[in-house]
Amino acid sequence: MKRLRKRSASGTDALQTRAKSGKNFWLETNFRLLNRMSRPIRLALAFALLASLGACATQTGRVKNTTKTFTTVVVDAGHGGKDSGTYRRSGPPEKVVTLDVAQRLERKLRESQLKTVMTRSSDTFIPLDQRVSIENSQKNAIFVSIHFNDSRRRGIRGFETYYNSGVSLDLANRIHGKLMTIPRSANRGIHAANFRVLRMANYPAVLVECGFLSNRSEGNQARDWEYRELLADRIAEAIVEQRYGPGVYQPTGRLALQLQSGSSGPAAH
Ligand SMILES: [Zn+2]
Repeated sequence: MKRLRKRSASGTDALQTRAKSGKNFWLETNFRLLNRMSRPIRLALAFALLASLGACATQTGRVKNTTKTFTTVVVDAGHGGKDSGTYRRSGPPEKVVTLDVAQRLERKLRESQLKTVMTRSSDTFIPLDQRVSIENSQKNAIFVSIHFNDSRRRGIRGFETYYNSGVSLDLANRIHGKLMTIPRSANRGIHAANFRVLRMANYPAVLVECGFLSNRSEGNQARDWEYRELLADRIAEAIVEQRYGPGVYQPTGRLALQLQSGSSGPAAH
């Protein structure tokens, strides 16, 4: 995700913590002030305060909770065309690996009898608003966006999963949990974020950062198609489990053979 690159990865967490405590401070200050005022002014201000809180609630209520009923999965391959995303000289740009994981994920979901829509299926530039409108024009959907991460600190590695609306948290938890079953994976957590494709979505929407291209180990893994197949498999399993419950998802292709023969999956580099 390009926007993440501008902050240090740990900076993302710090910003969110600050935002949360900021909101509490705002509420506490307002209530303290109300107590010091005369009764009519107090009442009027209390109404205004409640109205503003109500507006927030309506905003959240806009998102339909389809996490148990969805029939369509909108699969979003991050970046594309003139927007390469994260770029490292040693490997393909982010836009190439996001498209590959997204296409593998899409195929697995179709094989699991879910309808799918891709925001892009080739190396083309799709504006963020268009990605959102593709999602919001579906009847009963969820949205999953695939990205890879970048940091100036080469040592940073691990999965990060992002959501915006509360109804997306269940799906975010499930996808993140499945990714964490990959051997030697590192957990960088599930976070609320204001990314446009998440904020504007009318359905549950999750953005997955499938590891750091800036990290030697994860960058190498991202270049390995078997590892990308594994990423797609774990995300597909999470989505099918979210919809139909555990035990329904069947891995397909070469990965299924590996899993059956007891191999622990693609070797790490
Ligand atoms: Zn990205």
